[in-house]
Amino acid sequence: MIDAHIHVENPHLPGSKPFPDYLNEPAHVAERLRCELRSVGIDQALAIGSLDTTDEDPLGTDFTLEVAEQVPGLFAIGVADPRRSDKEHLERVEAQLQSGRVRALKGYLGYLYYGPDHPGYRSYYRLAAETGIPFIFHTGDNYSTKAKVKYAHPLLIDEVAVDHPETNFVIAHFGCPWFLDAAEVIYKNDNVWADLSGLLVGDESYFREQQRRGQMRAVAERVAEAMDYTERPDRFIYGSDWPLAPMRPYLFFANCVVAEDDQQAVFEGNARKLFGLQEGDES
Ligand SMILES: [Zn+2]
Repeated sequence: MIDAHIHVENPHLPGSKPFPDYLNEPAHVAERLRCELRSVGIDQALAIGSLDTTDEDPLGTDFTLEVAEQVPGLFAIGVADPRRSDKEHLERVEAQLQSGRVRALKGYLGYLYYGPDHPGYRSYYRLAAETGIPFIFHTGDNYSTKAKVKYAHPLLIDEVAVDHPETNFVIAHFGCPWFLDAAEVIYKNDNVWADLSGLLVGDESYFREQQRRGQMRAVAERVAEAMDYTERPDRFIYGSDWPLAPMRPYLFFANCVVAEDDQQAVFEGNARKLFGLQEGDES
């Protein structure tokens, strides 16, 4: 199985609610992550870097790659900063992508007040297409009261999906709570996917409580209905958003969302295809 959306470092998003302290030390987070992955039988995962990019670390992935050295099967997702689209920066980004250790790019809609159609993102779309990696956008609810959620509405992805047909886009969090809007963008376009991460966020006791109150079932039904609308189970990938949710209860929840016939594809096959990951690949 592949978990295509986790964090092993603080993403440093403006105004974000706190991330756990153990994300500050590569060895600590590596130990916890190996444990979590083993407990759910996930052999490959993709972790998102930090918005704190520098000239030396143009995609904010240095820390994540350090953790990846200690976690077999872990890969990095670089952060595309639309505020930095000068030639020198983009050359450094390109060199980093050519190293093959970064398997996707991510844009943080809403946390930054830039829509996906902002010119600052265009060169990143081209680089993603040339390198054969997808471009992921945070969409939907933001984990910060400083964010402006109108920039994160999933319908905005339609604009760039049409204008950049050579780039594969991923709607992270399936546009939560705008599932049907996200579904329409996936249904209509050939180059748009979604991940199922972050639809419930909380600790073990939160998940137990949601299950007891029937809320987990209710969310799963809304998500499943929107997935059905797309008629494209081949365009969904699994993600947990760990450590914002523990892996085991999140996987249980995702199992309630995804129809049994589609589980092999959503939990593994689709991500293999999208990220070009072979079984047993390590970064
Ligand atoms: Zn996330």
